[in-house]
Amino acid sequence: MNIKRNILLNPGPATTSDTVKLAQVVPDICPRERDFAVLMQGLRRDLVRIVHGDERYTSVLFCGSGTMNMDVCLNSLLPAGKKVLVANNGAYSARAVEICEAYGLPHVNLRLPVERPVDVDAVERALADDPDVALVYTTHHETGSGVLNPIREIGAAAHRRGCTFVVDTTSTYAMRPINIVEDNVDFLMASAQKGLQSMTGLSFVVGREDKIRESAAFPRRSYYCNLFLQYDYFEKTGEMHFTPPVQTVYATLQALREYWAEGEEAKWARHTRVFEAIHRGLAELGFRDLVRREYQSGLVVSVCYPDDPNWSFEKVHDYCYERGFTIYPGKVGSARTFRLCALGQIDEPDIAAFFKVLKAALQEYKIEVRYNG
Ligand SMILES: *Cc1c(COP(=O)(O)O)cnc(C)c1O
Repeated sequence: MNIKRNILLNPGPATTSDTVKLAQVVPDICPRERDFAVLMQGLRRDLVRIVHGDERYTSVLFCGSGTMNMDVCLNSLLPAGKKVLVANNGAYSARAVEICEAYGLPHVNLRLPVERPVDVDAVERALADDPDVALVYTTHHETGSGVLNPIREIGAAAHRRGCTFVVDTTSTYAMRPINIVEDNVDFLMASAQKGLQSMTGLSFVVGREDKIRESAAFPRRSYYCNLFLQYDYFEKTGEMHFTPPVQTVYATLQALREYWAEGEEAKWARHTRVFEAIHRGLAELGFRDLVRREYQSGLVVSVCYPDDPNWSFEKVHDYCYERGFTIYPGKVGSARTFRLCALGQIDEPDIAAFFKVLKAALQEYKIEVRYNG
């Protein structure tokens, strides 16, 4: 089978290998069979291993996109009468605030500048001001801007106040190395189609088993999206409570084999190579990035729109898309940006090929990359 290879420079779903795509083609199986439960068990263990979790940590799978994990953690891990503090410096933490609003969860929205990392002192002050906070939440890598947050320090601050620390690691997991213990994280999350380079529809939370058990006594604010209920069902039966995304599970098992074969360090080195190639290509064409380089995650570049009136993101996007490359709009407040991302099964030559196409698009539409001031 010959499958066209597209280079996705959007922030996930990411470019996958053919072997991962083809792993979905399997004989039909009822996911309630013992054989399937055995596969799920191995998968759950691997998801903990990727972030170097010890025996205190477990993983719980859900059938849904990454936002489902955010919903699950926020609605399930808050004790009665307590508050969530969201250290919010971007679109994904803003989404967490919206989830709090939707459930009516008491929360503190600690709004911080979007173009730089969360200020740990601001978190410390907010915690000192409000002894009712029991859950501290942030985003490791704000995928909208490309800013990386100092989770180890935020986690330490949360723990000094006896709070549980939840981090959205959807756009770093299985790319930037994470050590869930040393990074002071109680719960983190991701979905299969980003760092793992698998398919959409499978999401998971990795976290402290004792805290999941403790949460059985917290108010049950959702039926489908409750962390303890899903965990408990896994413990009793080895399966998801409701129908799992069967084919995505097979793809993810293959993606995990490829993850271990490549290795944590080599994979991160590859993403770094791609990221640097993106920066080189942009600099050669005269593009500017929005976020200071030292604040960037190493995975997403937010590029400022040039000031030439001929510039049209849509036209450039379509030109690239027709040639197999996907670029993505930005997500940083009102700043006019687009994004190029280093996720997925891609490497330097793909970026070199992309910049040839981008250059041709600029020529085609007579776009001059320049900035006023
Ligand atoms: C992709 C992503 C999500 C999940 O988005 P979905 O569209 O629900 O898959 C959540 N958080 C971050 C930081 C992300 O990058």
